[in-house]
Amino acid sequence: MSSRDGYQWTESSGLVKGVPSIGVIQPPTNIQTEHELYDVIVVGAGYCGLTAARDAALSGLKVLLLEARDRIGGRSWSSNIEGYPFEMGGTWVSWGQPHVWREISRYEMRDQLEISHDYSRGVNHFSLNSASGSRNMSHEDEDALMESALKKFANVDGQYGRIVMPFPHSESHNPEAAKYDKMSVADRIAQIKDDLSSEEHTVLLGFVLLCSCSTPEKTSFYEYLHWWALCNYSYEYCIEYLIKYKFKGGQSSFAINFFKEACSTGRLSYAFNTPVASINDDGNGVQATARDGRIFKASRLISAIPMNILKDVTFSPPLAAGKLDASTTEHVNKCVKVHAEVRDRDLRSWSGITYPNNSLMYAIGDGTTPSGNTHIVAFGGQHNHLQPEKDIDKTMDALKALTPMDVERVVFHNWADDEFAKGAWFFSPPGLVTEHLEDLRAPQGNIYFANSDWAVGWRSFIDGAIEEGTRAALAVKRDLDRSRSAHL
Ligand code: FAD
Repeated sequence: MSSRDGYQWTESSGLVKGVPSIGVIQPPTNIQTEHELYDVIVVGAGYCGLTAARDAALSGLKVLLLEARDRIGGRSWSSNIEGYPFEMGGTWVSWGQPHVWREISRYEMRDQLEISHDYSRGVNHFSLNSASGSRNMSHEDEDALMESALKKFANVDGQYGRIVMPFPHSESHNPEAAKYDKMSVADRIAQIKDDLSSEEHTVLLGFVLLCSCSTPEKTSFYEYLHWWALCNYSYEYCIEYLIKYKFKGGQSSFAINFFKEACSTGRLSYAFNTPVASINDDGNGVQATARDGRIFKASRLISAIPMNILKDVTFSPPLAAGKLDASTTEHVNKCVKVHAEVRDRDLRSWSGITYPNNSLMYAIGDGTTPSGNTHIVAFGGQHNHLQPEKDIDKTMDALKALTPMDVERVVFHNWADDEFAKGAWFFSPPGLVTEHLEDLRAPQGNIYFANSDWAVGWRSFIDGAIEEGTRAALAVKRDLDRSRSAHL
């Protein structure tokens, strides 16, 4: 089954919209009767909404899941092209991410992970292309250069951030840390620039902008410190936790288990291809109206849609000022993630950074396709922004500027232009997290708001989505139990 989302290009097909995925749900709805009153409507079938819908259904509630797209997974989904799962969004997972790991364990998927990197053969080096020149180095030298730069960057307290952010899953533990949310990455670099070599400066920006996919001026230093703290305050664990382990069968092979388990309760109704236009809470219950006019009713509603598009849904009563301000401000991540299937088998062990003179800045050999080709994944962002579907030739040039490659296929999803995401993973501009995290987490009447974008732990990650979906389902169940026992 093909999703409407995503693009692929080959020389013979040209650019084609839509790619096959096992996350597409057919038939798109199982709703039998109109005018049903549900316990809870969940809007959004990303990991957050899937977790919320599953947990609510398991707890005995009658659940309706409404999703705008034709598929599950939201910003984490995999295509399946000639048997190979190119990851269109969220990809890497790890046992350092507690909510994700609980689910991997639950679905017995521990043995279904594989390692992206393979530093064993062929072009086994790291290419650094900076404004001042280009050179190749061993992966050991790459790691040493990165570690040195990132440690200088994070060392605000003589302990590489450990004093400032000692409990990364409780970031307000040290109120002192909030002052770093007033700083951008550019501000922090200005403080340490005399201590950075030119190569450290380039790899530092290459890595930090891989995290935010924005510009140094628009990236919150505090949010970066939060990621760093979650990664055990070390570059080694940034790699371990952020960009190493992925599912052999792709993200959709994980997400489908949440959906199947929710369905197995017999208490899950669902409608895909159903963008919600408005949500009305009259105090006694909630009504969600789809763009096509269909109306759905429930006692409670969980909005599991991302921050950048909250403002696009009409809420009545209106969204609280803090939520609206956050959604209008928007997070800054405009990631461009491009997969290239290349005929050069020797590139499997290659990685590189090309910054600032390219629109794709970071890339690694990520796998070997069934035909034996190398799979390279490359990232760009707001700096030097690329719209691959609008200019495939420019995309090809940007890939080849990373390292010479013979491209057979290109696969991507343009998240910046996606109307149901308006950006990739959450990354905060200066000020947004400390000002609005609590606003975003607060319920409004009968409506609960949950999304990875405002998780406290692995915010921006699949783990954060599961953390939030768990929280919302529990809160709704407790709320309904309380109000029903009060009426007995
Ligand atoms: P979403 O996945 O955004 O789900 C929200 C759902 O709501 C969507 O399905 C959307 O279609 C739906 N929706 C929106 N509006 C409406 C509406 N009006 N009506 C009905 N439905 C609506 N995380 C990692 O852990 N590891 C990674 O390696 C990683 N890499 C990433 C790479 C990219 C390119 C991207 C984009 C993300 C990446 N992430 C990664 C982040 C991760 O994908 C997200 O944090 C996570 O998937 C968000 O889940 P969510 O359920 O909170 O939100």
